[in-house]
Amino acid sequence: MAVPLSSLQSDATSPRRRSVAVNVGGVWVGGKHPIVVQSMTNTDTADAAATARQAAELARAGSELVRVTVNTEAAARALPAIADELEQLGITAPLVGDFHYNGHLLLTRYPECARRLAKYRINPGNVGIGNKEDENFRAMIEVAGTQGKPVRIGVNWGSLDQALLARLMDANAARAQPLAAAEVLRQALVASALESAAAAERYGLRHDAIILSAKVSNVPDLVAIYQELAARCDYPLHVGLTEAGLGLKGVAATSAALALLLAQGIGDTIRASLTPRPGGDRAEEVRLCQNLLQALGLRRFAPQVTACPGCGRTTSTFFQSMAEDIQNYLRQRMPQWKTRHAGVEGLRVAVMGCVVNGPGESRHADIGISLPGTFEEPKAPVYVDGRLLRTLRGERLVEEFLEILEEYVQTRYAAKP
Ligand code: SF4
Repeated sequence: MAVPLSSLQSDATSPRRRSVAVNVGGVWVGGKHPIVVQSMTNTDTADAAATARQAAELARAGSELVRVTVNTEAAARALPAIADELEQLGITAPLVGDFHYNGHLLLTRYPECARRLAKYRINPGNVGIGNKEDENFRAMIEVAGTQGKPVRIGVNWGSLDQALLARLMDANAARAQPLAAAEVLRQALVASALESAAAAERYGLRHDAIILSAKVSNVPDLVAIYQELAARCDYPLHVGLTEAGLGLKGVAATSAALALLLAQGIGDTIRASLTPRPGGDRAEEVRLCQNLLQALGLRRFAPQVTACPGCGRTTSTFFQSMAEDIQNYLRQRMPQWKTRHAGVEGLRVAVMGCVVNGPGESRHADIGISLPGTFEEPKAPVYVDGRLLRTLRGERLVEEFLEILEEYVQTRYAAKP
């Protein structure tokens, strides 16, 4: 598959994206708005305190929408308390409710839950649509209409509408040259999303209150499905690789899938469905999305540190610890810098290990330091805006570099009013 990487633009409002825009509790998804990062809690929603705590962590990490499962009556009852707690904490990221099976009951029995959520995610594969009886789906759409909430129609191949799949399989079997089963499955996912959206509009939901997703867990299928969806509708698309998995596998698969789609202008909001290690940091999924968007030049969230991997020319750990010290310093200072200095998210810092690529890479950054490799003279030239500013020596090298960095931010980025 040829991907037009040359069409990537550094402007988050790229004209390549042409979906309608949906207002999710004040956060715009689609149109020419920046691609929205979202995440999902993994606490028991009925435990309001734990869920509010994790939702706040996700929002503070940069999640612009936070989804919680609403799977039981206790969860629906807890939702207003979660929303209250987030308000108290000053968290403004809208809450999204994830409904399956009993969403029609929960949304109608617990109107305060329905009211406090900014969007409902409905899985058409498990709410009855596709069967003769789609009253459950209709009931949820009608609540959304009454409450003025948008809906994400989220299809997943793990819970695909079996009646629809059977219909397409039968039609395929009757063809002179039947398609492969995998192709029919892909078509069924797309058809499920589009037919459900059409049904939602028949039941009164506005066209610009619908977001679609159709998730699978392997990259080539996901890319093919979203290309088809993007070609056949103008609803904003929520893109993510479902069940991406643990550790590096999850990061690599998610990055591959999302990069291929985002490079084609497909995707208005993204989520990384990583499986955290026990006790691991749920906000990793938010940071992955941010890093991905920033690496593609689609959004800027935080200064980037370019560090070389090190090699036999950097035999001490000094180089790694300095790169880490600088990264930590940037992370600590960013919350304050962001409130005071316009555009500081775009800062590029280079920390390089030796003379081979050090001076060159440092010149490409806004501010860079080239550390001495093994057998090199113990000095570290610092480059600012492509020019040699100073050469540092001695034990205070890191502190002195951070002082130069701090001064650079103060003078380069205009003070916000
Ligand atoms: S810049 Fe120097 S230390 Fe870093 S990877 Fe290249 S050769 Fe090795």
